[in-house]
Parts: sequence; structure tokens; C-alpha cells
Amino acid sequence: MSCLNIAFMTLGCKVNYYETSKLSAEFEMAGANIVSFESVADIYVVNTCTVTNIADRKSRKMLHRAKRLNENALVVAMGCFAEANKESLAESESIDLVIGNDRKNDAYGIIMENYFDMTTVGSGEKTERENMSISGNNDSVKLNEHDENGRTRAYVKIQDGCNQFCSYCKIPYVRGRLKSRIGTDVSDEVKSLAESGCREIVLTGIHLSSYGVDRSGCKSFVELGGEPVAGLASELAGISGIERIRFGSLEPRIITEEFVRAISGNIKVCPHFHLSLQSGCDKTLAAMNRKYTVDDYRKACGILRKYYDRPAITTDVIVGFPGETDGDFEQSMRFVKEIGFSDIHVFKYSKRDGTRAANMEGGVPESVKHERSRLLIEAGRELTEIYNRSFIGQKQLCLVEEKITVGGTDYYTGHNERYIKLIFDACGMSGDMENQLLEVVPSETFDGGMLLCGRL
Ligand code: SF4
Repeated sequence: MSCLNIAFMTLGCKVNYYETSKLSAEFEMAGANIVSFESVADIYVVNTCTVTNIADRKSRKMLHRAKRLNENALVVAMGCFAEANKESLAESESIDLVIGNDRKNDAYGIIMENYFDMTTVGSGEKTERENMSISGNNDSVKLNEHDENGRTRAYVKIQDGCNQFCSYCKIPYVRGRLKSRIGTDVSDEVKSLAESGCREIVLTGIHLSSYGVDRSGCKSFVELGGEPVAGLASELAGISGIERIRFGSLEPRIITEEFVRAISGNIKVCPHFHLSLQSGCDKTLAAMNRKYTVDDYRKACGILRKYYDRPAITTDVIVGFPGETDGDFEQSMRFVKEIGFSDIHVFKYSKRDGTRAANMEGGVPESVKHERSRLLIEAGRELTEIYNRSFIGQKQLCLVEEKITVGGTDYYTGHNERYIKLIFDACGMSGDMENQLLEVVPSETFDGGMLLCGRL
């Protein structure tokens, strides 16, 4: 397969990146050349996203761009936008193959065996093929492949799917119900990552807090008190070479005394928690079918702060949800400031056909969404600055990720346990510091959020 060039384009969440990485590794192991998406390739795979209208547009644009780059290439659409639009994409002249989410684990075989005769690639010939859509009932989803995001940090997907049905979200429809990996599969992957030099893992999934519910006989993660998540983290902490464990996005309802007591006893779990808020207004939360209140969220943050010194609490907020009034938005803004997040991701509500919110009254004009988004982003920046500054003058452990050059000077950058980006002068440092843990002391903020540090 040495002559086969394959290009990947990934849109959307960390789970999509994990899945592309896994598929790319399969092609690489088989001898394919992984080339940039702007190159002339034999196969283009676009792992699409449908979380917003913008994501839909980008997904479609990338698929058409692939065909323009090489009209003879096999163009493959997979991911959530592909799943949600299987029939129409299968009819498109730009797209040769659509792989449903329930067959994504077989994508390599589907592409290889059914749509591309690899043995003829060298001569530039291709077998006949028709535009087709592939999907089926593959319940035994294997998520046991290896992913590496550089040497330092790796994302490890531990579950897929979601049973929550937030009123604005299409994910449960396109990714299906909850499916958890078995712990030994995850451990094997993490051991392999550690052996290849990885020092930090981020446990990720579509609804991470529900990990293990499908194997427990319980109906909801709330009944389990987060035990499977804490138990898995404890098992992974025993793997030699792994220094840090982070969780991807968690639901506020998993944060109980019991859960936080368990994870805070695990020194490898970083004091960095991404708790999705979505709105700081109870009326809007109820309309979103989020199953917690502002007060539940406040209590969760209180528990984290009881067990950890200044934990980094980061979040997502949606602005302009149908029916969100100026007063509702102001409540959200006040709540965000009260919690003092260390980072906020702001999203403008985007209507997704097929969801309950798509039929709700009280649509918010784009100009209002835009202004609310601007105000919240600005508030978030100020909170980040306040939070990061609280560490000035205090020793930090930096996991060094890369060397960069700014204004002719070499610097190393990395993150501390709280995921604050640190930067320090590389001058006079002999040897490669990448992937090392170094103690540094921040002296000032740099370029809107990073901490400029001196070495010890
Ligand atoms: S928890 Fe809600 S927003 Fe998150 S994937 Fe599930 S339905 Fe979507």
C-alpha cells in the first residue's frame, strides 16, 4: 500500500479527533501515506460534525473541497453530520461513501474491502464503485484502539453515545445510546500509551459521567455516584509512566462528596474540572432539559473547592436559547461571575432540526445572540486573567509540550495541573525538555492568559 495517499479532515469534538486518529493509525499501519488535506490524495476522509449550523456548513464544504482537489479520489463522509444526512449525502456527486456512526469502527475494512482496490492504486486505477451509504446494527462497538496526541498528552475515549436528550442536542440521535468500554481495554490502551512515552491522559467521551451505567443495571449515573469513573481513574493511576489524569466534560450532578473524596485521594487526577453549565438561569436550564438547577451547580463547585485548592473549573455556556430574555441572560452572567470560572467556552444557540428546541417559540435574533456572546466572552477573559494571576509567584509543575520562538527568542510551553498554559525562556537549557516535568515560577501574565515563568 506504499503508493496510497490518504488525507483526513476532522471537525468537532475531541471524540471525533480520537476516532480519526484511530482510523488514520490503521491506514498508517497498513502502509498508507497520511498526507495533508490540501494535497492530491487517493482517499479523503472527512469526519464531520453537526453540533451547529456552522459545523454542518463546514462539513459539507470540506467534502466538496476534497472532490475538487482530486475528482478521481474516493471521498468518504463519516461522523455526526454524515449520520444525520446519510440519504442526501449518498446522492451527492462529490461524495462516494457515507459511513454511519454505528459502522465507524469498521471504517477501515469498509473503505479497503468494498470501495477501493488497494492493489490497483499504484497504477492509478480504481475499481468501479457507486455512491453508497453504509450503516447497520453493530452493537459491539469496539473502542479499543490506540490514540496518541503527540507524546505528552493523549485523549482516551472511554464511552460513546448519550441518554440525556438535552432539548437542543442532536447527539443522542446521531451517536445513539450510551456504550462504555470495559476497564481492561482502557487500561491496555493507557499502558501502551505510557510505554510510548505519554505522561498525561484525558479521559473523554460524549457523556463521560455516564461511564459504566450500561454495565451496572442502574438507570442513571446519579444512582452510581460516579463510582465507575473514579474506579477507572484509580486503576489507571497505577500505570507506571502516567503522571496526570484529566477528565473531559463532566456533568455537575456527578460531583458529590463521595465522588470528590474518591478522586481527590488519587494524586494523579488533576484539579481541573470541565463542568458543563449551559445556562445560569433555572428557567432556561429546564427548557434545555438539563437536569440540575443553578443551586445544584453552585453546590458542586463548593464541593470541589472543599477538597482542592483553587481547582480550575471550566465550562460551556449557550447564549440565545429560545425564550432566553435579557433578564435570563443577566442571571447567567451574574452566575458565571459568582462561580469565577477559569475558562468559558461560549456558543450561540443553533437550531438543530429534529430536536425539541427546534420547535420552541421565542427565537432570539442573531444580533442579540452575537452581543450576548461578546459580553460573556469578555467576562470569561477577565475571569481567566484573575484566576491565572492568583498563581503568580507560586511554584508550578509544568509538563513541557513544545518549543516555540517568539520575537527571535526560544521558549518552552506546557501546562500545569490546572491546565494553565505556562511559557518560559529556553535559553541556556541543554537537551530536549519536551515531555519533561519542570518546576517553574510564574512572574506575569503573557498574551492574554498564559503565565510567563522563570525556571527554578
Ligand atoms: S448531555 Fe446533552 S448536550 Fe451532552 S451529548 Fe448528551 S444530549 Fe447532547
